[in-house]
Amino acid sequence: MKNKRVMLKLSGEALAGEKKTGYDEDTVRAVAVQVKKAVDAGIEVGIVTGGGNFWRGRSSKAIDRTKADQIGMLATVMNCIYVSEIFRSEGMKTKIMTPFAVGAMTELFSKDKAVRALEKGTVVFFAGGTGHPFFSTDTGVALRAAEIDADMILLAKSVDGVYDSDPKKNPDAKRFDRISIQEVLDRKLEVVDLTASVICMENHIPLAVFSLNEKDGIENALRGKVNGTIVTAD
Ligand code: UDP
Repeated sequence: MKNKRVMLKLSGEALAGEKKTGYDEDTVRAVAVQVKKAVDAGIEVGIVTGGGNFWRGRSSKAIDRTKADQIGMLATVMNCIYVSEIFRSEGMKTKIMTPFAVGAMTELFSKDKAVRALEKGTVVFFAGGTGHPFFSTDTGVALRAAEIDADMILLAKSVDGVYDSDPKKNPDAKRFDRISIQEVLDRKLEVVDLTASVICMENHIPLAVFSLNEKDGIENALRGKVNGTIVTAD
């Protein structure tokens, strides 16, 4: 399948590399180099980052969930500012949009502005998730993908696809080349959370799951060559 406009989700951990927390510049630069090749080839790229390298809303029982989720959303804003700067240092044009005002640091999300920027070859970062507590960046990526009419959502994960059971626990786990979102839900396989799955299903947005550690994996997936699993949403 040939992609034109794609959303790439990078989990917080994907930015931290071996360190597991904070940032690993070499790891993020390796992502930037791959994204640049795809952008130079005419592919429009939107990025959503998680926040797990700093904070998860469920990190503390002592803190009100709404406030904890606000910290999580702000963590994704910091992540997008960081990744955007590395992308710029590799020669890409970037823009960061948020669903809430963050002073002069980001722009408020607008579909029209996002699409115009993407069409000009600017990588658009959708930071701050949905802007609401009790949601995840999975839901943020699904929502924005629907809004900007993305062809596909790419999930760079620590596993190289969707398996019928956990490959880390079961050596006989079988990887799917293709599977529908409905079957993912029926089999209770975790690709994205339930809310995000429903948005993808209703809006017919397929997802691709591949390994973050595959050489040139992000570039290949952005170009439509997925070495992993395609989750269909027909
Ligand atoms: N979050 C939120 N609403 C959103 C998106 C994110 O409240 O729309 C918060 C939530 O607390 C979440 C945190 O931000 O735990 C970080 O996002 P996520 O856990 O999805 O990041 P990842 O695990 O992918 O790094």
